[in-house]
Amino acid sequence: MAPAHDLRRARPEPMAPSPHSGPGPAGSQPPSPVGLTSSASAARAMMTAAPWTGWLWLGYLGAGAVAAFGYSAVPASGGWLVARMVGGCGIGASSVVAVFVGLRRHQPRPRRPWVLIGLSQLLFTSASVVFYAAEFLSADQRILGVSILLYLAHYPVLAAGLLLIVRRRAPRGDLPALLDGLLVATGATTLSVLHLIGPGLHEDIPRLVTWTATGYPIADLVLLTIGVRLVASAGFRPPAFILLSVSLFAILAADTGYGLRQLHAIYAVGGPLDGIWLAGSLALGAAALHPTMAGVAQPSSRPAGLGRARLCGLYLAGIIPPLSLVVPRGAANGVTELVSAIAMVISTALIMIRMRYAEVSQRRLANTDVLTGLCTRRFLETRLALASVRASQPGATLALLLIDVDHFKAVNDRFGHPAGDRALAEVARRLREVARSADVVARYGGEEFALLTTYLGQDDLYVLGERLRLAVAASPVAVDDGIVLPVTVSVGAAATTLPASPAELIDRADRALYAAKSAGRDCCVLASPAPQPDAGRAAAEAHCSSSAA
Ligand code: GH3
Ligand code: MG
Ligand code: MG
Repeated sequence: MAPAHDLRRARPEPMAPSPHSGPGPAGSQPPSPVGLTSSASAARAMMTAAPWTGWLWLGYLGAGAVAAFGYSAVPASGGWLVARMVGGCGIGASSVVAVFVGLRRHQPRPRRPWVLIGLSQLLFTSASVVFYAAEFLSADQRILGVSILLYLAHYPVLAAGLLLIVRRRAPRGDLPALLDGLLVATGATTLSVLHLIGPGLHEDIPRLVTWTATGYPIADLVLLTIGVRLVASAGFRPPAFILLSVSLFAILAADTGYGLRQLHAIYAVGGPLDGIWLAGSLALGAAALHPTMAGVAQPSSRPAGLGRARLCGLYLAGIIPPLSLVVPRGAANGVTELVSAIAMVISTALIMIRMRYAEVSQRRLANTDVLTGLCTRRFLETRLALASVRASQPGATLALLLIDVDHFKAVNDRFGHPAGDRALAEVARRLREVARSADVVARYGGEEFALLTTYLGQDDLYVLGERLRLAVAASPVAVDDGIVLPVTVSVGAAATTLPASPAELIDRADRALYAAKSAGRDCCVLASPAPQPDAGRAAAEAHCSSSAA
């Protein structure tokens, strides 16, 4: 037999690390916490097939960008200003049309969230039309009041649509994402009360402006809470989801800018803020037209994790509101304020680091088998679900090897369970030595192991199966003081091109393992190559390639 490292070098390089990486057991890619539902897998497959391509939504965005550029290029005065307003309303109206075209084209299930989002955009655009009419055609405050009511009416409708998506994405609830949303909302509310709503209530400004200075920020805060809850939710985030989030946060940013400018009486119709609203509308239209639109509300079975980006967001949400009082005053702050601010920044950072450490250790524990130190079956299945839809190179393959210790019951019966445990730990060590660092080696069941790897042709796969088998059988295993016994394993291996069905791959490897047992054990059996999609689902009969062959 060739030395292990020689054979290892002969194998192609592994697939690039997953973007879902986190810390994990040795000899494996780091884990992503939980398996995917089949619908989430479907949505993931959808994204793999059409990530950021497609003519309709890109065409819409391109045309919208040209229109928005024209909007900002013409002067914001005289007759041109009216042209700008008409153009702006036209862009808003186009996003309403885009949402309903998307609904018809992509047939999302359920339809209601997108119908509500489309209606809210219709209310928003109508409010803009009435607002501009009040601005240019009539000085009647009642018309302005109608536009404010329409603007305010669009909030609950949009919130209802987003909440339906939130509920659909986490049918069993997602407390961590809800807490994240509340934490960010608390920070934003504090900022808003300190700098927007509070001053708005005390300044001597017209009643209508007071309405807008309080009503809009309060509605925006509710929307922000739902928006952060949505973005923080676990699960699949296809391009349509990202575009929808961009749209939401662009509109919230423009609303906040509007509130601040109104407060200081410097808001001008047709200014740069209107450009941000337009960008938000365009992003919404593009989200609806994107092929992954139907995947936005795909359920996820896992709660939100606590990655670095999320922790940073939570940290900033915690420290910015109090700092917003201290920083602008600079040297005018007293020692007490400065010391308190520094202590708050440091202690909050330490709490976040502590939380991150707890999350990492907990995840490591959950994904590591106690007896062998290998990955758990749950981790392997999660990695299999992720890897099975992501083809990072054309023709990439995924291979699964199931390895079962032969006649292991007899070992327990003769030498006792603790001796059996020692034998299992030694088998695991030998298997892990053969694997590459990018392979996932897991304890699949009691005395059954699994190895998940990529980029193996049938010949390479057989070589790997044999190396695993020979590594275990190479020398007797010490199970107790002075007691050594020969241990052998049977290996069933199956490979598939991507994207693939995880269940089918497991089934084929399992049947190959069964064939290896039937063929007399201590051998490696390859499942026949997976049938091509157009070749029907003819059963892949395993064929035995015994070690003697
Ligand atoms: P075969 O060659 O057909 O696989 O025979 P086998 O005896 O290995 O298969 P069987 O499924 O009948 O027995 C598996 C044994 O593995 C039974 C069980 O006691 C033992 N086992 C499972 N988990 C552990 C464990 O964690 N520690 C120990 N010591 N034994 C275990
Ligand atoms: Mg066995
Ligand atoms: Mg077994």
